[in-house]
Amino acid sequence: MHRFFIPRPYAENMMIDGIDARHIYTVLKMKPGEKVQIVSDDGVTALAEITETAPGQTLVESHEPAVKITLAQGLVKGEKMDFIIQKAVELGVSCIVPLAMEHSVVRYDGEKAAKKCQRWQKIAESAAKQSKRDIIPQIAEVASIDKLMAECDCTTKIIAYECEDRQGLKQVLQSNLNTDSILIIIGPEGGISEAELDKARSGGAVPVSLGRRILRAETAGLTALSAVLYEFDELGG
Ligand code: SAH
Repeated sequence: MHRFFIPRPYAENMMIDGIDARHIYTVLKMKPGEKVQIVSDDGVTALAEITETAPGQTLVESHEPAVKITLAQGLVKGEKMDFIIQKAVELGVSCIVPLAMEHSVVRYDGEKAAKKCQRWQKIAESAAKQSKRDIIPQIAEVASIDKLMAECDCTTKIIAYECEDRQGLKQVLQSNLNTDSILIIIGPEGGISEAELDKARSGGAVPVSLGRRILRAETAGLTALSAVLYEFDELGG
């Protein structure tokens, strides 16, 4: 993948000019529809599709949100997980981590987990194509909360906790609007255990409320994701 620096902040439509544009046009001979990787002035790295080329300028369009969102979703039963993955990819998630949690009703290990991940990756792939994503979001291996907290490098981390009554999602997002990557942790049908909450907290995750009603796990994940995108002006505004 060819990579170009754009000395302007990230936007949906951007222009590559100067020597890079000449290179794209005359040397690489790239055509509209082909993809390049761009790095904007404000540090966003994204894939973008070429919409026009000329010797002095290349216009590119990106369908990717500027903020990278990882959804760590407590494992829920069968088709619900398929549904969450399909919808989260449509909405704009970057990565989904299926989380094996204490109160998950389903357990996948070894071969079964690997098979499930393959299936979920396929669902992500077709949802990404259908919704014109520039990337195919990655479905990580089924992980524990310890592994998640040890490996996740998102700059902002939140855990939707059904017993939280002090901090709301909006408040926490609004004090982190400069972040480039967010981890959202959602519990399974049976909820989040206190031990898991403690581990998430020690790994830097902030517990947030999603309101005064208890949402089902699949509603909670997709609602939190939509709210994050809205707060970052990624739902059309
Ligand atoms: N069985 C639990 C609810 C689990 S809901 C109970 O009865 O209390 C599944 C997950 O969705 C929760 O673990 C949490 O991550 C999220 N969730 C649902 N409603 C929420 C709310 N109002 N605030 C924050 N998180 C919520």
